[in-house]
Amino acid sequence: MGKPTGFMEYNRATSGCEAPTDRINNFNEFHAPLSRKEQQKQGARCMSCGVPFCQSGQPIKGMVVGCPLNNLIPEWNDLVFNGQWEEAARRLLLTNNFPEFTSRVCPALCEKACTCGLNGDAVSVRENENAIIENAFEIGLIKPHRPSVRTGKHVAIVGSGPAGLAAATQLNKRGHLVTVFEREDRLGGLLMYGIPNMKIEKGIIERRIDIMSQEGIKFITNTDIGKRQKASKLLKDFDAVILACGASNPRDINAPGRDAKGIYFAVDFLKSTTKSLLKSELRDGDFINAKDKNVVVIGGGDTGNDCVGTSIRHGCKSVVQIEMMPKLPDQRTEKNPWPQWPMVCKTDYGQEEAIAVFGHDPRIYETTVKEFIKNEAGELKAVKVVKVKFVTDAETGRRQMQEVEGSEQIIDADIVLIAAGFLGAQSYVTESFGVDVNGRTNVATEPGSYQTSVEKVFTAGDMHRGQSLVVWAIREGREVAKAVDEYLMGYTNLR
Ligand SMILES: Cc1cc2nc3c(=O)[nH]c(=O)nc-3n(C[C@H](O)[C@H](O)[C@H](O)COP(=O)(O)OP(=O)(O)OC[C@H]3O[C@@H](n4cnc5c(N)ncnc54)[C@H](O)[C@@H]3O)c2cc1C
Ligand code: SF4
Repeated sequence: MGKPTGFMEYNRATSGCEAPTDRINNFNEFHAPLSRKEQQKQGARCMSCGVPFCQSGQPIKGMVVGCPLNNLIPEWNDLVFNGQWEEAARRLLLTNNFPEFTSRVCPALCEKACTCGLNGDAVSVRENENAIIENAFEIGLIKPHRPSVRTGKHVAIVGSGPAGLAAATQLNKRGHLVTVFEREDRLGGLLMYGIPNMKIEKGIIERRIDIMSQEGIKFITNTDIGKRQKASKLLKDFDAVILACGASNPRDINAPGRDAKGIYFAVDFLKSTTKSLLKSELRDGDFINAKDKNVVVIGGGDTGNDCVGTSIRHGCKSVVQIEMMPKLPDQRTEKNPWPQWPMVCKTDYGQEEAIAVFGHDPRIYETTVKEFIKNEAGELKAVKVVKVKFVTDAETGRRQMQEVEGSEQIIDADIVLIAAGFLGAQSYVTESFGVDVNGRTNVATEPGSYQTSVEKVFTAGDMHRGQSLVVWAIREGREVAKAVDEYLMGYTNLR
């Protein structure tokens, strides 16, 4: 621990943030990091407490607390404070293959469990992580390392999201010959074609993939396994196969009028913007455009927020975000104490922008869609919504949703974006490999295992654990790599 009184001497300080009304004029990242000197002071705030919950990644009351990668946070906070940036990067990279991704998009489970956060402001762990890795890139520490010995074993990875990329890095490091198959034209999974550019600029992903290619990993894009290429061929050509295809089945809203023109799934909307942005800075117009449109986003979560931020950047006329659940409290309640994940209302970047542009929070709570209203041409014109309340059934004890009588409302809508979550793995992939799925249509394995019901086929990421986070996908990628290595070699020395 570098500075025993650091947490008392220095206040938490985080990166500067461009004003909402300025940043909506483009799709760039909008945080300006602290100077390295300022960041060092933030490292000094870490108390190196006896039980560092921040790095535990352990479940408490059904919710995981702290970093799922068990990042060595107090250690590298101390190294940051002491200006030992290179050593900090080495320690960080021991547990996290892609800190440049997590330090941009992770909801920072670590900070929610930081002891400093019990009575004050948590240590700015995520930004310390960002400073370490970006400094490492700047000084040329992040270079390709080709393995000196090859095992001669061939591994196919289907899907190039964070789970597939983490597994590829680990297995290549071990000397296996790794080929990653991706059905899209670009690599990165939802990091590329889900999470918008303002949260992670796509050059950040390409920078890492360039290094991975130079390390000997083979990437094949535009190849849909199960459709364009047969699963049986992969099983014949490779010693092991990892399915890391994500949870790509969006949950639909089956209300009357669902066939109206103008209703899209959130990821299709976000992907079309990113594709056009990367291809032509949106000049080709080849994207679902919300300009001058009334937009209704169904789903109050992070994906819904990304749709709000993207619609505003398009220049939408209005935006409403519908959430079925009640608004969360502003502070933790007694039932949700530290270090549990705080169940509190957060106003994210898109909602901040909506407040700045339209003067009010776009979210309406305890509301669901009753009907999509269309004109004679079949175009969406409005959405009929209704208020709901949750009541406990006296017999079963279960909470049930009930409509509030007479609370219907009509909201003008030219575009509806459905951001209601994902249901699991796509069946054409699971069926072509013949792997068992569980009740949630995720690929089934024994608890803590990554081996599917089919010999030499493994799975990881959202396809395995269901819709989750980038940090979990990286963890799953690292864990499946260990399982595959052990399967191929009889033992593993991967950590
Ligand atoms: C809009 C949105 C915003 C999000 N924001 C955040 C965030 O801010 N922070 C966070 O931590 N998490 C966020 N998430 C969740 C996070 O992106 C996912 O949990 C994570 O990307 C899952 O990684 P994965 O590797 O398992 O799968 P994915 O990232 O989904 O990648 C799977 C890849 O497999 C490919 N594929 C699928 N089937 C085939 C096939 N048959 N053949 C070849 N390729 C195939 C897909 O094209 C895709 O590229 C967000 C999700 C969405 C949808
Ligand atoms: S990966 Fe996420 S939870 Fe882990 S240290 Fe980084 S920001 Fe915190």
